[in-house]
Amino acid sequence: MDKLTIRDADVAGKRVLVRVDFNVPLADGKVQDDSRIRASIPTIVALVQAGAKVILASHLGRPNGKVTDSLRLRPVGQRLTELLRRNVPVTGDALGIGTEDALKRMRPGEIVLLENLRFHPEEEANDPGFAATLASYADIYVNDAFGTAHRAHASTVGIAKHLPAYAGLLMERELTMLSRLLESPERPFAAILGGAKVSGKIDVIDNLLTKVDLLVLGGGMANTFLLAQGKTIGKSLAEPDRVEDARRILATAEKNKVRVVLPVDVIVAKEVTRGTEYKTLLAEKIPASWHIVDLGKQSQELMVEALSNVKTVFWNGPLGVFEIPSFAHGTNAVARMLADRAEHGATVVIGGGDSVAAITRQGLASKMTHISTGGGASLEFLEGRELPGVQVLLDREPAQAKTPARKQATKKASTKPSTAKTSTSAKASKSATTAKPTKPAAKSATTAKPTKPSAKATPTKPAKTSAKTSASRK
Ligand code: ADP
Ligand code: MG
Repeated sequence: MDKLTIRDADVAGKRVLVRVDFNVPLADGKVQDDSRIRASIPTIVALVQAGAKVILASHLGRPNGKVTDSLRLRPVGQRLTELLRRNVPVTGDALGIGTEDALKRMRPGEIVLLENLRFHPEEEANDPGFAATLASYADIYVNDAFGTAHRAHASTVGIAKHLPAYAGLLMERELTMLSRLLESPERPFAAILGGAKVSGKIDVIDNLLTKVDLLVLGGGMANTFLLAQGKTIGKSLAEPDRVEDARRILATAEKNKVRVVLPVDVIVAKEVTRGTEYKTLLAEKIPASWHIVDLGKQSQELMVEALSNVKTVFWNGPLGVFEIPSFAHGTNAVARMLADRAEHGATVVIGGGDSVAAITRQGLASKMTHISTGGGASLEFLEGRELPGVQVLLDREPAQAKTPARKQATKKASTKPSTAKTSTSAKASKSATTAKPTKPAAKSATTAKPTKPSAKATPTKPAKTSAKTSASRK
């Protein structure tokens, strides 16, 4: 990865503000799914063990700039306290004298969680004053909130103007896994796209069409492709204004020799509700009063067969209305198949809140190679765009060959962590859940000091290079 990570930072005794993504589902004041909280633990533990004062900052839900009691981070703080077995107090507000005092009293190894950043409209507005205040709390900034990295907010972008900015271990893992898809996928490489709408996914399909060997389409979005093929789809969800895009995508796929698999038969329902009447029909002429809600058996078999030898898979979007168990069969069949592929060594990466929920519900999440914590962010990344929250992080010095006769000290410092990283990279965040992380963090603390000035001297170049890389692949 071409960004510096916390392994490159000297954090001992420093105040480190970590932007995490604790945007988790809550019900009755309890965290319903703590996977995002768990995913942040390797970074938190590594910082704590390296002797940092850890200030966590996150948003939760959409309070639209107003204090909203149901969106307070207290339940998250409680869950984190349980997971870390270490008290994590939540401040009453992200701003204010009380918060400043609490932060001043922090000692190395302590953790404080700031109250929901989005209680302040300045957060989403990327207000410079708000960013400066957040920055004043810390000496070092860490972004571990991959799921929010596609948003240019005060805590993801503005703050990095003021502080040396490093990637957290989760951010590193996400970027490593997703760039592997774009840069060096083992073939055959398949993308499976489903979900409700095609409109948000056209750019990602366009970019993936230059990379994949196989494109499997299902869910509501496939309906627009069926329309493009002149089929009738009854009352099914579709976007007639995207039919032209669908046609163009099918033509590009043919030109690029990408095999496209669309549903051949479907489950249709009278209503998109539990307990409604449903049956299987060929995906040709759906009568006017029916909705397509899932793949039929033949489609499932066709897709499972098409995917049977893939070595790399990216999946976003359920292949039916999986929230209703009778319409989850297509999604479940493909998930089982992918879990099996992953167990046989294929790289299976899944992104998207609902897709992940569907897989988690089946108990298959741990079998996959990587479950992205970012839905929108993973799609934007795979569109070939550099995410604003990633762009602002410090760049690793380019490889020695590219920087002849640069400052010796700088070069040494920046090559070390990168060598260390190649051997650990994807696994690093996993091992960090155990007690290991102290070592890399502590080690880099002694070696990586000169990165700060060096990184400042270089930021534009590598950033441009990587932007170009992705653009040129289009
Ligand atoms: P993700 O969150 O994984 O990115 P999306 O949000 O794009 O996925 O899509 C998920 C939604 O798509 C689910 O709520 C699911 O019910 C819906 N969906 C899937 N297939 C259909 C369909 N045939 N008709 C209507 N909605 C569908
Ligand atoms: Mg969704």
